[in-house]
Amino acid sequence: MTLPLAGYRRALAYITPYWPRLVLILLAGVIATAFGLAQPYISKLLIDDALLKRDLHMLIAVSIAMVAVTVIGFVLNIFSSYQYVRVSASILFDMRLALYRHLQTLSPRFWASRQLGDVVSRINNDIAEVQRVSADSLLSVLSNVVFLIGSAAIMASLSPRLFLLSVAAVPVSVWALRHYQSRLAERVRAVRERSADIGSFLLETLLGVRLVVASHAEVREAERFRQRNQGFIDALMRMQLTSFLSGAVPGTVLTLATAAIFLYGGKLVIDGALTTGSLVAIMAYHMRLLAPVQNLMSLYTNLVSGGVSLGRVFELFDTKPEIAERPKTIPLTIVRGALEFDRVSFRHGTDVILDALSFHIEPGTICAILGPSGAGKSTIADLLVRFYDPEAGAIRLDGIDLRDLSLANLRQNIVLVDQSPYLFRASVRENISYARPGSSGEQVAEAARAAAVHDRIAALPGGYDTIIAERGQTLSAGERQRVAIARALLTNPRVLILDEPTSALDEANEKTIADTLVRIAEGRTVVVITHRSSLAQIAHQTILLEGNK
Ligand code: ADP
Repeated sequence: MTLPLAGYRRALAYITPYWPRLVLILLAGVIATAFGLAQPYISKLLIDDALLKRDLHMLIAVSIAMVAVTVIGFVLNIFSSYQYVRVSASILFDMRLALYRHLQTLSPRFWASRQLGDVVSRINNDIAEVQRVSADSLLSVLSNVVFLIGSAAIMASLSPRLFLLSVAAVPVSVWALRHYQSRLAERVRAVRERSADIGSFLLETLLGVRLVVASHAEVREAERFRQRNQGFIDALMRMQLTSFLSGAVPGTVLTLATAAIFLYGGKLVIDGALTTGSLVAIMAYHMRLLAPVQNLMSLYTNLVSGGVSLGRVFELFDTKPEIAERPKTIPLTIVRGALEFDRVSFRHGTDVILDALSFHIEPGTICAILGPSGAGKSTIADLLVRFYDPEAGAIRLDGIDLRDLSLANLRQNIVLVDQSPYLFRASVRENISYARPGSSGEQVAEAARAAAVHDRIAALPGGYDTIIAERGQTLSAGERQRVAIARALLTNPRVLILDEPTSALDEANEKTIADTLVRIAEGRTVVVITHRSSLAQIAHQTILLEGNK
């Protein structure tokens, strides 16, 4: 396991704004540890200087010191761990937000090539893992190191020989710790595998429950389920045992070494070479060695796991957006809506989709784009809203290259309604007013009327407040398309692109959408991608793509 440092180096950029607070927090943590270190030493003072010398003043002083050390340590500890979690959470949140913003700039090509689950897992699980590691690491490393060095120094100063005896036991318990920890990792993996096994068994046999029942296989499947559960329980029990041993064995080794310290230290005390208080303090330090050693040992595994997660996060950051806004853009205020493709070429990988395609669309007209499936019709739509840029040639709105406009300006004026439009799980009203959140009820209804979907919405049980269920149970596919058209109309764009607006409609409804189209085309340019002749008939212009396949 090598440590993936590159990720950590890049993460530094996110930490920089917080460093003054971090330094303060770490400082508080170190001081709190130092106070923790003082406690066994105070017991030494109690025994040697107060009890054995029968000094009441000293007893009071020692008791006050104990209270002070405990209270101050407690306050500093709370402050540092609380603030540390807060700062590390803020840092990770900054990173998550930056990643989210970055993902929003990526092209449909990126989304087509990635599994959504993988991307979500990186932004969710991987960043959470980094957060877990960072919450566990920096502060605890520092306090553990300070604690170990401090304990060693105090023990050595109290009695070098007992210190050596105590330290001699550490390698043995470290060995035991390593032994059980590596076994534990295996056992944890086994438990995860068994649990995934049960998950996929359930999914498979429940999805196929019709077949199971029809084949009289219920008893057989239940038995297979029982076996898988048994496998899981066995793995779980083995993991529990190893987990117990991994803590208990190293601890026992250290405790056994305490017996040696008893014996040898006791002899030193009897011989008068060591004070009783020093022996008690040394034993207390000795018993506290295991926890920091344990923490430091899990550090490396933690850092590796966090580094891997960081690497996965930065890999997404490294995916460059395909389009970028130019530093200087031309503000286009009054838009007529003339479109021009000037020798536009575009490829997906090595597939030539558009090859030096040229056409003009006059402002205020309806243009139908026809052609076989795969000919590149949707690609034209994607190019018009700049999900992609052409590889060669230029696309112009009112004579201005789209790349010279700001993305906000462009997407205000050219709006695309996708083939299977996306609706959020929210009310119909919220879905329609998504691009113009402040719209009044009347404006929303008017857009819906123009898209010929008002009557249908009004007939829903909750009217415009009806929540659109996932997978569209509330509305049919055609209605969803019209809700999306209403959403586009509400922003009143000069250019409206409709990608297959009739794909989900039968012939009868197609007529309605043709009428609708004529109505919504008033005062704007409409580009409609279709394979239906009825829509081509109402268009002022048709462009036929041949297709390369
Ligand atoms: P149409 O809308 O005419 O059916 P498209 O514009 O959707 O055609 O697609 C044109 C061609 O580009 C198709 O052959 C399609 O397989 C291909 N294509 C579309 N998107 C991608 C992508 N992200 N990566 C690779 N090829 C793609």
